[in-house]
Amino acid sequence: MFIADNLKFIHERIAAAALKAGRDPASVLLVAVSKTRDASAVDDAARSGQRLFGENYVQELVTKAAQVSESVAWHFIGGLQSNKVRQIAGLVEMIHSVDRLSLAREIDRQWGRLGKTCNVLIQVNIACEASKCGANSADVLGLVRNVAALPHLRIKGLMTMPPFFDDPEGARPYFRELKRLSELVAAERILKVEMTELSMGMSGDFEVAIAEGATLVRVGSAIFGERERQRSPVQRT
Ligand SMILES: *Cc1c(COP(=O)(O)O)cnc(C)c1O
Repeated sequence: MFIADNLKFIHERIAAAALKAGRDPASVLLVAVSKTRDASAVDDAARSGQRLFGENYVQELVTKAAQVSESVAWHFIGGLQSNKVRQIAGLVEMIHSVDRLSLAREIDRQWGRLGKTCNVLIQVNIACEASKCGANSADVLGLVRNVAALPHLRIKGLMTMPPFFDDPEGARPYFRELKRLSELVAAERILKVEMTELSMGMSGDFEVAIAEGATLVRVGSAIFGERERQRSPVQRT
């Protein structure tokens, strides 16, 4: 079954990249990005041992989560509108895409209603492209301080999505910059802020991201096969 084979191959590549960087392969977690795939593909991957799945679109996630029969965990990785947060409250273990205080406030409100805490990553727009989501590098520390003050959120680290390069080496400076920013934030020792996670790297460049310190790699097409081309999910759901 091709999903099982692909997963095995990705795990081998993750382990090799980690070892090459002098890191423990277990320090890199694979987020299988299942957007546009149906629930049966998620179940197939889950039966091959994959537990963690990433989704970009609220409605798609809610529908799919109800259809999946295996026990899995979800991360939300796409652009998120505040008015959709309620639908995924309690459903996802982590949100990778917190890029503004208003969104963080709504996450705090919705998880608070459930008496729970949401793990979040601050998404950083290192490229400063107008079309991409993410806080500007210069604003990250301020945003982290404000988000950290919210009781039902816990900041675990940073996430970024570089522009697309044919050569994965093109993404390296962006990954390196995210790592530098995370060390800068960590040095501030802000209460309730951990900088343990770096969500970076996709099918085309996860090995480079691991070399630069990624702890969560978000891999879709290398597991499930090519999607219709939609490289940059700028559209907010
Ligand atoms: C689609 C997507 C991915 C996975 O992309 P692939 O190239 O299919 O691995 C990772 N992160 C985000 C935010 C995405 O939208």
